[in-house]
Amino acid sequence: MTLIRFKASQEQQVDLSQTYDAVVVGSGAAGGMAAHVLTSQGMKVLLLEAGKKIPIEQELRSMEWPYDHPRRGEAPPGDHAIRFNEYNIRKPPYATKSAFKHVFSYVGGWGGSDYVKNILVDEKQHPYTGTKYAWVRARLLGGKTNIWGRLALRLSDYDFKGKTHDGFGEDWPISYADIEPYYDKVDLYLGISGHKENLRHLPDSLFQRPNKLTASEVKLRKSLATMNRTLTPYRAGVTTDGVKHNKYRSKCFGRGACGRRPGGCDIHAAFDSPTGLIYPAMDTGNLTLRTNSIAHEVLVDPNTGKARGISFVDAVNHKTYVAKAKVVIVAASTLESARLLLLSKSRQYPNGIGNSSGHVGHNFCEHVMGPGVTGLVKEMVGAPPTLDDGKPGGFYVPRFRNLEEKQPGFIRGYGFEGGSGFSIFPDSAWDTPGFGGQFKKSVREHAGAFISMGAFGEVLARYENYMDLDPEVKDAWGIPSLRFHYEFGDNEKKMCEDMSAAGKEMFEAAGIEVVGVDKNILTEGWSIHELGTARMGTDPKTSVLNQFQQSHDVKNLFVVDGSSHVSASCQNPTWTIMALAWRSCEHLADEFKRGNL
Ligand SMILES: Cc1cc2nc3c(=O)[nH]c(=O)nc-3n(C[C@H](O)[C@H](O)[C@H](O)COP(=O)(O)OP(=O)(O)OC[C@H]3O[C@@H](n4cnc5c(N)ncnc54)[C@H](O)[C@@H]3O)c2cc1C
Ligand code: SF4
Repeated sequence: MTLIRFKASQEQQVDLSQTYDAVVVGSGAAGGMAAHVLTSQGMKVLLLEAGKKIPIEQELRSMEWPYDHPRRGEAPPGDHAIRFNEYNIRKPPYATKSAFKHVFSYVGGWGGSDYVKNILVDEKQHPYTGTKYAWVRARLLGGKTNIWGRLALRLSDYDFKGKTHDGFGEDWPISYADIEPYYDKVDLYLGISGHKENLRHLPDSLFQRPNKLTASEVKLRKSLATMNRTLTPYRAGVTTDGVKHNKYRSKCFGRGACGRRPGGCDIHAAFDSPTGLIYPAMDTGNLTLRTNSIAHEVLVDPNTGKARGISFVDAVNHKTYVAKAKVVIVAASTLESARLLLLSKSRQYPNGIGNSSGHVGHNFCEHVMGPGVTGLVKEMVGAPPTLDDGKPGGFYVPRFRNLEEKQPGFIRGYGFEGGSGFSIFPDSAWDTPGFGGQFKKSVREHAGAFISMGAFGEVLARYENYMDLDPEVKDAWGIPSLRFHYEFGDNEKKMCEDMSAAGKEMFEAAGIEVVGVDKNILTEGWSIHELGTARMGTDPKTSVLNQFQQSHDVKNLFVVDGSSHVSASCQNPTWTIMALAWRSCEHLADEFKRGNL
């Protein structure tokens, strides 16, 4: 396959003597979207990214075979990924006293760790403290979007109006009708693959070609339909038909490589922020990018109380610089954004900028995961091999609890991500008994016959789950670290009990032999869907941002990532992060032009 690669357009020279129209902190899904929308509105934008720009295609090497790699994809000796038990038995900071040279989050322990060693942060340089937490961070241009799992889902009014539905927490200051046009824009601009299902609780996107379900998945889909539940092909933030307006991306060739390793697509069919948003924004001539720039304070004009720019440390030379701008947009990811707001203490804002409510860092929420089920589809044993993993995902079973019915024991809901069929390596081989010819025969016969799914459930946003700054511990650049005060509550635990029971029930109803039921809850943070530390709301006393992700306290300060989410829903957040950012930045640009900021 020959692919034409285009170079990113000529980068604009960084000029720190200039006052930019806007400075954006962070270049992931949120910051990339802010850069795209603001530059397309003609604003001059400086994008500060803490990490470096790496030759990502060479890093991911999506089609490299295991036998073409000296360690079959494993990272060099001396690198270590934190294991489940380490997260639970020890206390953070997990890496400080480690004998290993480099320590990575648990994602570094997935097969193919060599492909993410320059993407994930080295935990030794980035300590955090407090309660146990598996924090996955990617510090480079594009952030976590370089390796994200691609499941791209919309939220519905069951999520935006959760309090109205069951009385808990707060409603969002928007409803589905407000964000729907922006979900549409994101779909059309970036491309999304999926199948229409007409569900009120999981609105459809403007889909490109869906992935095909395997025979086992079709079997489960048919059975679930009789239970009034749905199994739909993985809604992937991947362009399966291509996006003609974007020269940096290719359409998906169904190589399945994004699922074989920790993630990433070296032809950029899967959305990533650099090729999907940032390079096109650079082509407008309105975007200037400075990598290796770690924002550590939002600066304030002492006369007006407005934000006047960002103070940042150069990651390489450790010197401090100032970027001046008329509007400041924070998009460093949920936890890093909260950290930056808390770090930005001044005479006007002694508790951190935008924090007159005291809610910055609080109401943290995410997804709880762990419970799941594995089954054997007997009629698939011995079936001829098929190219089942040549697609960017398996299937999704949307939430079915607490919609029309009320579930005893817990509120809100969960969905299942799953898959079945043949893959590059038959994982069942590890548990297959025997040896020699009989073992090989058994592995071959059973290779495509397994199906499994794991749940992602809503963690309730509670004020008492929060992060603050550690008074002593600092990162490698001398910036105070985050301290976690967070644990799952009773609702999450009860929900998890139901996940494994419901998973088993659904497989049994479909005539699938249940061979494993996982009841264990994974460590807090495992979902990598952190949300809610600077929530939106109508009341400045109980929220940080208004419905346009604009600070209640400082009108030229916006926080456009998942920190603004009022509740976690159980759907994966990235598509919502981008739709919201698009909406807010359009509003921002209008207000800017009117001179209101
Ligand atoms: C393995 C994996 C699988 C995932 N699967 C899914 C999925 O299937 N579906 C889904 O919806 N989501 C998924 N996610 C989550 C998804 O990646 C995030 O929701 C999304 O990337 C959030 O975008 P963001 O811009 O807020 O943060 P990020 O993408 O993390 O970007 C933040 C950027 O800000 C930079 N930054 C941080 N601090 C500073 C600072 N002080 N100064 C300057 N820059 C800074 C970082 O370096 C980074 O580049 C997954 C994530 C991972 C890692
Ligand atoms: S399956 Fe599609 S999205 Fe995934 S790596 Fe292959 S081309 Fe990229």
